[in-house]
Amino acid sequence: MMTKRQTAIAVLTVAILATEAIPALSGGRDTDRTRAGRDRMVTTLAERYDIHDEAVLRAMARVPRHLFVPASQRRNAYEDRPLPIGYGQTISQPFIVAYMTQVIGVTEDSRVLEIGTGSGYQAAVLAEITDKVYTIEIVPELAMSAEEHLRLAEVDTVRVRHGDGYYGWPDAAPFDAIIVTAAAPHIPPPLIEQLKDGGKMVIPVGSPYLTQQLVLVEKEKGRPRTRNLIPVRFVPLTRQAEP
Ligand code: SAH
Repeated sequence: MMTKRQTAIAVLTVAILATEAIPALSGGRDTDRTRAGRDRMVTTLAERYDIHDEAVLRAMARVPRHLFVPASQRRNAYEDRPLPIGYGQTISQPFIVAYMTQVIGVTEDSRVLEIGTGSGYQAAVLAEITDKVYTIEIVPELAMSAEEHLRLAEVDTVRVRHGDGYYGWPDAAPFDAIIVTAAAPHIPPPLIEQLKDGGKMVIPVGSPYLTQQLVLVEKEKGRPRTRNLIPVRFVPLTRQAEP
């Protein structure tokens, strides 16, 4: 027979195990709470930030952002800010994701390259618009967890590769659009090379850990034209030895 005290401890243990287990089990599901969070996020994008591309707003309304952040950050998944995803990296603020997607004018026919897969969230947003999304991540563990997030979110068209995105993805080039989500000191020439004529690239350029400029690159008749868009802060584009 258990004493009252033993029973109390047993109940407490079960309660602790249950609360630990519940976020892991229910955290993935889309609930009224996650849907409401996402609706709020999309309203903010449209009203505060003037994101007006319907395809972008629809994509942001669909992708379950809470599946792309660590369990400890799930409650913050739909807040208007970047969040830590481990390995010193961050998932960008929803506005930045939407803005970059809007600025490169992705359509259902676009072939898109992303450099800096991170959580896989930006790739999932792109994949709601086109089924030709290629993404490269330099941290192998993040490339793996991004694939897992994409699987949980039932996004099965994104091609994820581990490697140094500075060199692009020559086998899949040329691209209609390239989106670089880590700050580079200069625009990598291989990426300009792999951009189609008439294509668009968006890339944060500047010093690591300081404010950078988000730059729009438009390639016309083989020549890149650049224009500064807005000041941003991204984690740095890191480099590996040449492949
Ligand atoms: N787009 C991501 C967030 C990007 S954070 C998302 O939606 O979650 C920037 C990412 O770029 C980090 O994961 C970092 O590891 C990666 N990165 C940095 N340098 C890189 C490089 N040279 N090639 C590919 N990925 C790189």
